[in-house]
Amino acid sequence: MIYISKPYIGEEEKQAVLEVLESGMLAQGKRTAEFEEKFAAVCQTKHAIATSSGTTALQIALMAHDIGPGDEVITTPFTFIATVNCILFVGAKPVLVDIEEETYNIDPAQIEAAVTPRTKAILPVHLYGYICDMDAIMDIAKRHNLLIIEDAAQAVGAEYNGKRAGSFGTGCFSLYATKNVMSGEGGMITTSDDDFAHCCQMIRNHGMERRYHHDMLGYNFRTSDIHSAIGSVQMDRLEAFTEKRIANAAYLNEHITGVITPAVREGYKHVWHQYTVRVRDAASDGSTRDAAIEKLRENGVAPGIFYPIPAHKHAYLRDYGVEEVSLPVAEKLAAEVMSLPIHPQLTQEELAKIVEEVNKL
Ligand SMILES: *Cc1c(COP(=O)(O)O)cnc(C)c1O
Repeated sequence: MIYISKPYIGEEEKQAVLEVLESGMLAQGKRTAEFEEKFAAVCQTKHAIATSSGTTALQIALMAHDIGPGDEVITTPFTFIATVNCILFVGAKPVLVDIEEETYNIDPAQIEAAVTPRTKAILPVHLYGYICDMDAIMDIAKRHNLLIIEDAAQAVGAEYNGKRAGSFGTGCFSLYATKNVMSGEGGMITTSDDDFAHCCQMIRNHGMERRYHHDMLGYNFRTSDIHSAIGSVQMDRLEAFTEKRIANAAYLNEHITGVITPAVREGYKHVWHQYTVRVRDAASDGSTRDAAIEKLRENGVAPGIFYPIPAHKHAYLRDYGVEEVSLPVAEKLAAEVMSLPIHPQLTQEELAKIVEEVNKL
């Protein structure tokens, strides 16, 4: 079976973890500091702050920006649920607006229409590794005096006009096992603001700078040097990983004919966390797409669906004051999308097999 993801663990990762284990210093320490430094360099920011997950990176970023009860945060429904849950966890209200059909990313025109006096931030998600229309989004943020918190969990190294994901606003990344670089579990916050970086570090560690002196409310959002040892080695592989993903996407785009393939606009570097196609003439309940996936699985290719249910459709959100809304583009795409394996460890034979099976549909 050709799986949707395959974490790469080389000798260097194993060696780095062994070194940490043998040192006896397991908690967040110098391997984490080294990892943060490499991460900030890749994101073109002054600081990177390692966290326990992408979810907690988002949560800390919202807390450090003082977003809470009474505030609204505008975001996309076409994302992993962490994007929405982190807003709820700080007591703010997620305002979900529709996406662009072509990019799967939040539609700037919909953001503009959703701004109210309570809006505090825009939380764009660079879905699949493709940066949002940041010119338009930053223009809206500037005119309405809003913060930008990027959910760049899938987009490490992605660029728009030479600017990297995580450098437009406050960047939040995930290092979960299947992400483009990973540490098993983990996250990063990126910023070039010294005071903001310090605030994130304080929140990450119970508001503590001097041992057992607590200057503000914080929590344990730390990672460990065991995780960071893996992540730090992975950073040295990022460029090669990304080049391979880009080459794989180019091959699939060139050869796949049976479904609607993804397009990338001028000026963008897509890092292909996912390679997502759309099934043609799909039923709105997703059944056409689901049948296509079933067929592919029978023939040894295992696609993924990111995401089968747009966030605004989850019933539990009604308990948290998020109204039922109709977001037709997100709903339509949720029934059409399937992501094909694109990870850097695919062989040429596997790529050819993916093309063959998809074109047979
Ligand atoms: C993975 C992911 C997250 C959450 O990251 P975790 O490390 O799993 O907590 C948030 N947003 C998006 C878009 C993601 O893909």
